[in-house]
Amino acid sequence: MCSAQKFVMRMAGLTMVTRSRSRSRGSGAGPRGAGEEAAPVRKGEANAEGKKSHGPAKRQRKTQKLSVAYEASDNEKGEGAKLPEAPGWEPPDWQQQLVNIRTMRSGKDAPVDQLGAEHCYDPSAPPKVRRYQVLLSLMLSSQTKDQVTAGAMERLRARGLTVDSILQTDDSTLGALIYPVGFWRSKVKFIKQTSAILQQRYGGDIPSSVAELVALPGVGPKMAHLAMAVAWGAVSGIAVDTHVHRIANRLGWTKTATKSPEKTRAALEAWLPRELWSEINGLLVGFGQQTCLPVRPRCHTCLNRSLCPAAQSRGGS
Ligand code: SF4
Repeated sequence: MCSAQKFVMRMAGLTMVTRSRSRSRGSGAGPRGAGEEAAPVRKGEANAEGKKSHGPAKRQRKTQKLSVAYEASDNEKGEGAKLPEAPGWEPPDWQQQLVNIRTMRSGKDAPVDQLGAEHCYDPSAPPKVRRYQVLLSLMLSSQTKDQVTAGAMERLRARGLTVDSILQTDDSTLGALIYPVGFWRSKVKFIKQTSAILQQRYGGDIPSSVAELVALPGVGPKMAHLAMAVAWGAVSGIAVDTHVHRIANRLGWTKTATKSPEKTRAALEAWLPRELWSEINGLLVGFGQQTCLPVRPRCHTCLNRSLCPAAQSRGGS
């Protein structure tokens, strides 16, 4: 178990257990701790994955073609819940590509490894304050380098970062504290609105479902899935940002080219074993920061250069 996973369990006070897929995989591509007995983290996952489906085989085949957009909240579970697509297509070399990326990332020395959301909260704060700080760091992190997000979080935490303290801070002061994060003016507005909702509806805590998280101003699907993982210790989906979106397409991890992170998330979740979902974001974000750069990727140093469709199309550069 890695330190990030230990952190998640400490923070959420949960034992995270994942579900094994019935099909076989190469041992080298298995998750850390692969082979353990696996089960859904939350009650709703069993339903979302079709475990409670008892209909005729024909009807079941039909419903399995539908995909789930995100983990259902308590109110959304039960009758009418969509089922994930049945496993079928998978990229030809993904297991070796994944092993290679793990090898290249073994140093854990990318910015995301030191400054990601799981490193920006105050470990001595009460659990719900820590969860709020995790969500806030995720809201600040969009379109922003990890170093800049970490600096803004440090300044906010120095004043005591809680829902109440943010609501008592005027907009211009809050803007000065978070500057120069990307879209800082919009984020001031979203942070204030979200904090007010958290105070009124959730007692100062953050909600524990993706559906409720994405309903908050300024919170998108990537942030919601990361918040579920980091703050609640629940694997609700693959968190796809621009790094994961770009690299998945370069490696051919989507059946067809995808145009948006949300399309990439759905494409990855259609085939990637669920026990690997929580690992993918941090692994690929760091890989994208150090090797598979947005512009001029360092293919000459990449262990995947002979297995990468994008590198091959460039003539193996
Ligand atoms: S070979 Fe190049 S494009 Fe392909 S994964 Fe490696 S760095 Fe990225």
